[in-house]
Amino acid sequence: MQEHKQNGITSVFTLIIMLLSAGQAYGWHDKTHLAVAQAAGFERWYSAAAPDVAKSREEFRAVEEKNHYFNNNAGKRVTEAMVMEQVERFNKPDDDEGHLYGAIIGSVREFKRLDAKGKYADNPLVFCAHYAGDLSMPLHNTGYDDFNKERHSRNDGIIECNAMNNIGFIQRSIYQITIRNEADLAREIARIAETARQLGGEIRKENRDMTQEEAYRQIIHSASLFRAILVYVGKNPC
Ligand SMILES: [Zn+2]
Repeated sequence: MQEHKQNGITSVFTLIIMLLSAGQAYGWHDKTHLAVAQAAGFERWYSAAAPDVAKSREEFRAVEEKNHYFNNNAGKRVTEAMVMEQVERFNKPDDDEGHLYGAIIGSVREFKRLDAKGKYADNPLVFCAHYAGDLSMPLHNTGYDDFNKERHSRNDGIIECNAMNNIGFIQRSIYQITIRNEADLAREIARIAETARQLGGEIRKENRDMTQEEAYRQIIHSASLFRAILVYVGKNPC
């Protein structure tokens, strides 16, 4: 009986630890990701949180996790070259800082590769929709320090309870981004990463969470980028 009880306590404890550590790099919570993808006009918007689900499986975690963030430990300005440098690290587990920017380009390449062969290619776009969402999240673009650890999950959820009710607002706020080639895409990724990195610096300095207004401003960058990616790969946003 005693042993049984202890096992119960241990497994609750393990679960709590798992939940806490899983919280590390989740990015926006699920409904926020769905809202970004739906506002961008992605037919498979309802799958946009799936990459976080895939990542939660122990055997996939190492491969998937580093695609969701770039802990810019040096606090360097994000450039087009930095984005391109990360492409070869896509899906690679041994990378301390992560390679979110390369993962966006890597998943677009993967879509194109499958599409060119006439294969069903929407799954890489599901991943891309998710990464484009994570791109605007300040704590996915800055070092994983105490501030980040303490506030990560709360900031992931700043607009979670109302994002799905505001899809029209996000859609109307989407601005025009034109992507003609990979260099254009890399430049836009760098630009949006910088908005996130700078906001990350600001909230650290002021020791606070993002406001809802700031969170919406960020995800509007994500939705605008992902819409432009859909156009770039020949998918009509709907
Ligand atoms: Zn994520």
